[in-house]
Amino acid sequence: MADLKNEFSWSTSRRRLYDRCLRAYWWRYYAHWYGWMRSAPEEARIAYRLGKQDSFATWGGTIVHDLIEAEVKQIRDTKRAVSYERMEKAARDRLRTGWVESRDGLWRRDPKRKLSLWEHYYGDPSDRSKERTDAIAEKVYTSMRGFVDGPFPDLLMRTDRSAFKNIEVLDSIKIDGHTIYVKPDLAFVHPDDGLLWLVDWKTGKPGAADDFQVATYALFAREKWGVEPGGSKGVLVYLAEGEQKEFELGPEALDRAEATIKESLAEMRGRLSDPENNAGDMDDFPMAEDRQVCTWCGFKQLCFGGAGVPGAALAGDSI
Ligand code: SF4
Repeated sequence: MADLKNEFSWSTSRRRLYDRCLRAYWWRYYAHWYGWMRSAPEEARIAYRLGKQDSFATWGGTIVHDLIEAEVKQIRDTKRAVSYERMEKAARDRLRTGWVESRDGLWRRDPKRKLSLWEHYYGDPSDRSKERTDAIAEKVYTSMRGFVDGPFPDLLMRTDRSAFKNIEVLDSIKIDGHTIYVKPDLAFVHPDDGLLWLVDWKTGKPGAADDFQVATYALFAREKWGVEPGGSKGVLVYLAEGEQKEFELGPEALDRAEATIKESLAEMRGRLSDPENNAGDMDDFPMAEDRQVCTWCGFKQLCFGGAGVPGAALAGDSI
């Protein structure tokens, strides 16, 4: 395994975690390394497993993204009309099978492919109450309804196949020699205005960093497809709210996004004791001072111990 190297890279989700808690960032991007191997130290195996964990709400968001992706691809490839009934049935099936998978602890054998939910791993019965899970499932359906009833199904039906540039494909660019990962939900050339629309579906409420995330797609579009600033438009679709925000991605927005990425790269790498080898020390990644953020954190077993943690008991962890 000597040739497997933990290469440094950057993404908006990595930056989000770095800003939320440095110790969580450490568990997720450093301590987890080799944790997919049975022979790895227990701490690495737990960090790897917990790094794959989801909450019921974020997993619901993933289902919405996956099902919209499937519908958009069908429109692109076959011009098949969107069907809310089909989406709802698929969502219901996935919610049910995933919940059972997590409840039964199938992740113990295969943490990469089998779902582990915070609600089963750490939660108590109130976290898994019918009222709570029904509310999250309802949000999944409302979000899909927001897509189906919104302007995109009709708009994409009259979009030429060749105008679809990217549908949820992970890709990357280089900035300052480092890999910057991007995964636009949808990038297509609009049939009316001729601009490259960079679309992000949101199942949550508007956040301060939403515009920035889409601006990183514009940096990618410039390098990958030669789309100059002003040739693209950012579109944030808040599915559950039924709102859409469109904004220009001119030279200033791109410069700002690039400067923010460079700043973030320097900050992340500056915290490493050996940035050339992407290696650091845990002590340089302190725990969050505001312990409020620990409440819903998936890594808290590693910070506070596994005593009383149902998932840790199920896995037979000693820490
Ligand atoms: S439990 Fe708290 S301190 Fe530990 S990683 Fe999570 S947020 Fe950070």
